[in-house]
Amino acid sequence: MLEQKRVLATSIPGPRSQALQQRKLAAVSAGVGTGLPVYVEEAAGGILRDVDGNQLIDFGSGIAVTTVGNGNPRVVEAVQRQVADFTHTCFMVTPYEEYVLVAEALAELTPGDHEKRSALFNSGSEAVENAVKVARHFTGRQGVVAFDHAYHGRTNLTMGLTAKVNPYKLKFGPFAPEIYRVPMAYPYRWPTGPEHCAEEAFEEFVALVHAQVGEEETAAVILEPIQGEGGFIVPAPGFMKLVDDWCREHGILFIADEVQSGFCRTGDWFASDHEDVVPDLVTTAKGIAGGMPLAGLTGRADVMDSIHTGGLGGTYGGNPVACAAALAAIETMKADDLCGRARRVEELFRPRLEALAAKHGVIGDIRGRGAMLAVELVSDLEAKTPDPELTGRINKACHERGLVTLTCGTFGNVFRFLPPLSASDELLGEGLDILDEAFAATV
Ligand SMILES: *Cc1c(COP(=O)(O)O)cnc(C)c1O
Repeated sequence: MLEQKRVLATSIPGPRSQALQQRKLAAVSAGVGTGLPVYVEEAAGGILRDVDGNQLIDFGSGIAVTTVGNGNPRVVEAVQRQVADFTHTCFMVTPYEEYVLVAEALAELTPGDHEKRSALFNSGSEAVENAVKVARHFTGRQGVVAFDHAYHGRTNLTMGLTAKVNPYKLKFGPFAPEIYRVPMAYPYRWPTGPEHCAEEAFEEFVALVHAQVGEEETAAVILEPIQGEGGFIVPAPGFMKLVDDWCREHGILFIADEVQSGFCRTGDWFASDHEDVVPDLVTTAKGIAGGMPLAGLTGRADVMDSIHTGGLGGTYGGNPVACAAALAAIETMKADDLCGRARRVEELFRPRLEALAAKHGVIGDIRGRGAMLAVELVSDLEAKTPDPELTGRINKACHERGLVTLTCGTFGNVFRFLPPLSASDELLGEGLDILDEAFAATV
């Protein structure tokens, strides 16, 4: 296993990475961007080693995927065993136990103790697509309500659900019809202040859906319990519950998109747990399988079983190797109490982020939960003017110092932290020291 410490062997990116990046430009579509073009050769736990021998500390987990750590020993062992047994049969042709075990685990772990059914897919986008398919089929209605700052994927239907045009939707239209957008209960930027945010956002939501969609025409409302790409916005406390209760009153399905926030990331198995919300449908992916591509749609048995046989599926959905990885990842989350670990990560990060805010005067908001944390950077604390340019420069300063960091947000001014939950306090502390240096050198 790679030693869990940073090593700077060359400048970053080093010469071999730069050469590979030149080849990338000649072979890979320009549409596929690379945030930090160091080419990885090996990774373990919270360390990525590149082709130049640099060892970078990972505060991104490949966008909240390697929650159990890169190359987690249980996951590696399970994958190797499964690859040796068989790699594919297609569950829709000749099934296998691993798929059923993952569905059983999803029933046990997702919010609520009602009867549930699941279907497995390859990506978060695909899980969201299927959530909408199921909701429309079950309700016999077409309207789907999504929020400002939402991110639900890059396929045609999920692009339509995603809020931000550039880069996700730019010139890729037309988008799927019957998608309606409502304001997000975004406490930091709520005009009358955070204390009124949940109630007022809920009132606007109800009025807009009533006037522009019609309750009886609405199949589903889809919400990220903590928004991901849109800026790690935590909906004002109580907002999600208000929306969920209202949906139930009107026979509208509530879909929690837990693709980024699920699987211990926020200190609970799912971020909905924190708000005591039991969604009708839950989408999962990212952290579910320790880096293997797998996604799930889990929901009420009556809803999921309303679909005719053959109505859901896909060639690779619930691939046995990915399922074996998921079972090993879930076993690790339980055995190592990674929900508890995520809460500990917040205890480590919060005071350090608060100290940064006090020192530099550019952090307007610190938010998130567990190991899904972010700071929003502004050029004027009073006016809350987004500062994407500074955000980009600090990000770059982290990269040059061997810390893998990510930005996000509708305004490009959110600096987010998604460390693997296997990383030690010591490694996280080293990463936070680098963050301090990057702020000091940039602001
Ligand atoms: C990443 C993400 C998706 C899309 O998942 P892909 O696997 O990239 O298709 C959907 N919803 C949320 C909340 C996400 O963070």
